[in-house]
Amino acid sequence: MTADIAACRAALAHLDIDDNPKTVRQKSRDFFWYSPILKEQLEDLTADLVIAPRSVDEVVEVLATCWKHNVPVTTRGAGTGNYGQAMPLFGGVVLHMKHMNEVLKIGADYFIAQGGAVIGDIEQSLREEGKEIRLFPSTMGSATIGGFVAGGSSGVGAIRWGGLRNPANIRRLRLVTMEETPRVLDLIGETDISKAAHAYGVNGVIVEVEMPADPAIAWIDVIIGVDSFEKSCELALLIGDEETLCKRMLSNFEAEIPQNYFGRHRPLLQADEAMLAVTVSKDCIDRLAEIVTGFEGATLRVRYDQLDAGTRLPAVFELAWNHTTLRALRTDPTITYLQMMLARPTMFETLRAIKSRFGDELMMHFEFTRFSGVVTPVGIPLVRHTSNERLEEIIQILELEIGAPVFNPHRITLEEGGMKKTNPHQLAFKRQADPKGLMNPGKMIAWDDPDWAPTPGKTYLFAE
Ligand code: FAD
Repeated sequence: MTADIAACRAALAHLDIDDNPKTVRQKSRDFFWYSPILKEQLEDLTADLVIAPRSVDEVVEVLATCWKHNVPVTTRGAGTGNYGQAMPLFGGVVLHMKHMNEVLKIGADYFIAQGGAVIGDIEQSLREEGKEIRLFPSTMGSATIGGFVAGGSSGVGAIRWGGLRNPANIRRLRLVTMEETPRVLDLIGETDISKAAHAYGVNGVIVEVEMPADPAIAWIDVIIGVDSFEKSCELALLIGDEETLCKRMLSNFEAEIPQNYFGRHRPLLQADEAMLAVTVSKDCIDRLAEIVTGFEGATLRVRYDQLDAGTRLPAVFELAWNHTTLRALRTDPTITYLQMMLARPTMFETLRAIKSRFGDELMMHFEFTRFSGVVTPVGIPLVRHTSNERLEEIIQILELEIGAPVFNPHRITLEEGGMKKTNPHQLAFKRQADPKGLMNPGKMIAWDDPDWAPTPGKTYLFAE
């Protein structure tokens, strides 16, 4: 099966095509460079063309033409993914969703947006109607809703609603398949949605997303200093479990993270204080203040609603999730990161085991999320990187000796990344939706090796 790029380009010449090698290379990259391992593997990758469709009909035309000429297609939202998900391993076309960016409808409790709509723009449209989005990544200012569904996992709002794996958080996806005659399918219900959620676009192009919208809440960002990281975890659980406290985000950081990497927040904390960042509803801020006052060793350091005139601080979500890594990398380019889940009942033992084994080689921060209803810490520790061999060793120790499942952000495939467990059902769907295996090739091990089996006992975030 040889790709005929020239014939494909000629047939699609009337569309928005970019074949300038410089900009094509830019549009072939994402935030893979967070990982020193992926940086080595992917640095020189580039597509042949970037095509930006303006309508579902044009998506259908691109996919049918690429199918005919055996040209691989990798869909791109904003390219903010961290695992090289949006990078074309086998060249071909990057299908850029930048023109398909409309919010199509805002209903009583939902919205419908095109796959390339920027999440921040969706939130703004919803706010104008007295509503808000349920869940968003900390990159909401640039990331697209299709890219979030296909490449993301969780984010701000997950302490209230759980992550993308919670079936209630996605109502419908409209997907275009890559066949001789592409089909436009509406995926509804948990089983069907799971075919395209966190599937890196290997099954089709998401052209439309329908998600819940909730009544808008006035949120206030708060920063709390706590005299030890363990105690900041205890306080986070207290706040997390308190159902009368309506929260949008709950994250904590070992003291050295704000001290080393949060330049504008450093003066607001004591040098050895762990930091807890909470986004809480205005109605609940007094109750939160009461809880903090009653918790020994904790001090409410900053309320964003009470900042002096002229003081501007980044929203706390721009300190959390993978923004923590971004801020650390700006100061120290040798830093990298890991992602892991800690079981709530044993989280303190696990945390102690991690700290005693790794010391400050791993700087901890947790995003507290609702996981199957239980407030649970997702660890996104910063790693002081010395060598790729050591990084692999740390992952092995965490998984096999300490028992903390790692969602490995230093792997390019869905399965090895550890979030998505592909199964025969998904494989069967890919056989129908992408029979030639041209959609984002190389990202799904089960496609290339149907006999591949995951390591027994491995935990997956999206299990089905
Ligand atoms: P892209 O990077 O362009 O694409 C992601 C994947 O989806 C790729 O495999 C791509 O091929 C596929 N894809 C894109 N659009 C479509 C489509 N329309 N149809 C089918 N497939 C498609 N992630 C989180 O989940 N939570 C966070 O809080 C978070 N914080 C981050 C912070 C920083 C600083 C950075 C750099 C990354 C962070 N991420 C986070 C990762 C990423 O930003 C998000 O997952 C984001 O939603 C991806 O959207 P995107 O438009 O940039 O997608």
